[in-house]
Amino acid sequence: MKMMIEVTHCDACAKKGEEREATTALSVADESWDLCDEHGERFRSYLANLFATEASAAVSA
Ligand SMILES: [Zn+2]
Repeated sequence: MKMMIEVTHCDACAKKGEEREATTALSVADESWDLCDEHGERFRSYLANLFATEASAAVSA
């Protein structure tokens, strides 16, 4: 019996024609993306910045 190991690939890398194993899943409402370490970190810091900016804008408003 052969074991099937399902590998999920990074959606962002796939757009560049690269196959990279996804380690993180990002989901917003009913959309979801599988991301590799690098893209996961990029999205994480992007979102962190976004919220940081909104939070400081709310404070100064
Ligand atoms: Zn990637």
